[in-house]
Amino acid sequence: MKITRVEIFHVHGAWNPKWNPVIVRVHTDQGLSGLGEVGLAYGSGYLAGMGMVKNLAERFVIGADPMQNEKLWEKMFRSSFWGMGGGPVVYGGMSAIDEALWDIKGKALNVPVYMLLGGKTNDRLRTYASQLQFRWSGEPNLKPAVKPEEYAEEALKALAQGYTAVKVDPLQFDEKGGWEGWNLLKPLTTDKLKVIYNRMKSIRDAVGPDVDIILEVHSYLSPTTAIQIERLVEDLNCYFYEEPVNNLDVEAMVKVAQNVKLPLAAGERLYTRWGYREYFEKRALDIIQPDLGLAGGLTEGKKICDMAHTYDVSVQCHVCGAPVSIACALQLEAAIPNFIIHEHHMESLKKELRCLIKQDLQPKDGYFVVPDDPGLGIELDEKVMAQYLAVEVK
Ligand code: MG
Repeated sequence: MKITRVEIFHVHGAWNPKWNPVIVRVHTDQGLSGLGEVGLAYGSGYLAGMGMVKNLAERFVIGADPMQNEKLWEKMFRSSFWGMGGGPVVYGGMSAIDEALWDIKGKALNVPVYMLLGGKTNDRLRTYASQLQFRWSGEPNLKPAVKPEEYAEEALKALAQGYTAVKVDPLQFDEKGGWEGWNLLKPLTTDKLKVIYNRMKSIRDAVGPDVDIILEVHSYLSPTTAIQIERLVEDLNCYFYEEPVNNLDVEAMVKVAQNVKLPLAAGERLYTRWGYREYFEKRALDIIQPDLGLAGGLTEGKKICDMAHTYDVSVQCHVCGAPVSIACALQLEAAIPNFIIHEHHMESLKKELRCLIKQDLQPKDGYFVVPDDPGLGIELDEKVMAQYLAVEVK
């Protein structure tokens, strides 16, 4: 089998101008095709991600055998020059192509991807409602939660749908609802601490003692303020603490780990085994959150998760994009014994993203059931996707 064509789709719309998922479809001469997604739907970088896929497709992918995923991964890594240096653009491009190969391989062998990764160790995946500060809703362009009672309301919406775990960043929006309005690198003053604490306390009071609350801070903090925030909310019994500090500084994470009680999680801005290695060796993290659309796809993602297992580190895939990223995470999380919980982002509730594929990937009563169809178990809705086709490489 040979790869003949690569399509790159740029999903976008007025429903969220900041959201730009890049979906890749790899075609073969046997009529089979596979899907992947660049993990750069948010932040700044989707255009570079599209360009990277185009460059890799032209140079390494067209004409390659899609069944030899390991060989193509190594080729892209070693011979693109930038692979051995990396970052989200290079690995985002490699990841999307790699995911598509696994989808093709599953379809060619008529098995779901999880079967190729070792079979299921988890039949159902416990799922949390992610990023309550943006509102737990599929409605477009909503104002963020600001007042403590608004944080509680969003958590209760998720609970009503059967979730028993939620995640929130209580400091991404300041006391007026301004995005990233506070400087969080300097020791925080009492007024800011009060706002943050009241938001978290309001959630805990509303959901009761039995719901898991994940504290997320998007790497906004210095080690000092990260420790300050954790101690501030210590009585609220959070589940774990996500991205306390800048991911480029392993020692900063180590300092936090040595000074807080909560388990630490990070990984959406770490790539490949080499990016994770030092975090494992220094025992800096308790939970890793690799984004399969950035960390190196399923080929590399499985290896990172296995490495984590040797350090008794758990895994929650970072999922923050279009449904292809959800499908990839479900397949890997079904297979790995160190899976802890699955992330369902509030953007994934939007109909404009749900309609991209024929299957509606949503959890039921707080759990995901992993699709058993061959490959990733998803199919694009051709009518919807036609408008998003941006580049074709032959
Ligand atoms: Mg995060």
